[in-house]
Amino acid sequence: MIHIPVLKKEVLEYLNPKPNENFIDCTVGEGGHAEVLLEKTGPGGKVLGIDLDPQQIEKCKLQLAQFSARAILINDSYVNLKEIVERKSFGPVNGILLDLGMSSAQLEGTQKGFSFKLDQGLDMRYNDEAGYFTAEKIINEWPENKLEEILREYGEEKFSKKIAKNITEQRKQGRIKTTFELIEIIKDATPSQYWRGKIHYATRTFQALRIAVNDELNNLEKVLPDAVSVLPSGGRLVAISFHSLEDRIVKNFFRQAASAKATASQVKILTKKPVIASPGEIKTNSRSRSAKLRAAIKI
Ligand code: SAH
Repeated sequence: MIHIPVLKKEVLEYLNPKPNENFIDCTVGEGGHAEVLLEKTGPGGKVLGIDLDPQQIEKCKLQLAQFSARAILINDSYVNLKEIVERKSFGPVNGILLDLGMSSAQLEGTQKGFSFKLDQGLDMRYNDEAGYFTAEKIINEWPENKLEEILREYGEEKFSKKIAKNITEQRKQGRIKTTFELIEIIKDATPSQYWRGKIHYATRTFQALRIAVNDELNNLEKVLPDAVSVLPSGGRLVAISFHSLEDRIVKNFFRQAASAKATASQVKILTKKPVIASPGEIKTNSRSRSAKLRAAIKI
């Protein structure tokens, strides 16, 4: 599946790239957003693109080859943003983009077990060298109460107790190794009306596992203040989130950084309400369905 960048027009509107300006794309992925930023910032502007998944960086290199030295691509976590910017002496920075979560290509084009549509091993790590543990380890080794907690908190799964209980029951028979085994266990633990719901009954469990494996919410909490501190006055920050937990973190951070009480890192919020995709975009790109964009400018 090809990844189509979400809210492309809106990203350009809020980052407002001009010739010779420099931007950081903290989740460069396949370079969809980076490409339009590079087009707008010629002839001398640069984009520093970061991605935790080495395969994404490889794809991005091909995608952005035409821009040669104007695209600087780094395989690392955006939690190391400040250190990367210093190491690369990158700047002045005019804007920073965060397009959270995973790409459509990762969902169905890898062997990582991100998708409940494919029967694969339960991995879910964006980067298998970064010291993260796999979803298989969580499913088979975490105590029932910890499992329940991540399903409830990261998945907002109303059947968290029943699913966690069934997982711990089933793993007594042998290690749970694949996405399809897990899906059967979820099905078995939930009522039949749930199987016919608007979203697939495994969606919330899979989301919870992916967030836990990659520590996504803590990473987001860490990067937001660092991003603001990297920006000079007038620099812009745009964050696109894909579920309510992420959006809440972005919203609360922006509010707090914009409040009179904030000492350092003051920002002005540019989006009173989150910007969402148009019906036309949702039709052509299902990933945009749950996207929420918030933007701020450093004072
Ligand atoms: N904007 C991109 C798509 C981004 S999808 C485009 O238009 O092509 C989100 C990307 O974030 C994925 O490639 C994923 O590997 C990456 N990612 C997730 N967590 C990350 C982290 N902690 N640091 C850096 N990249 C991360």
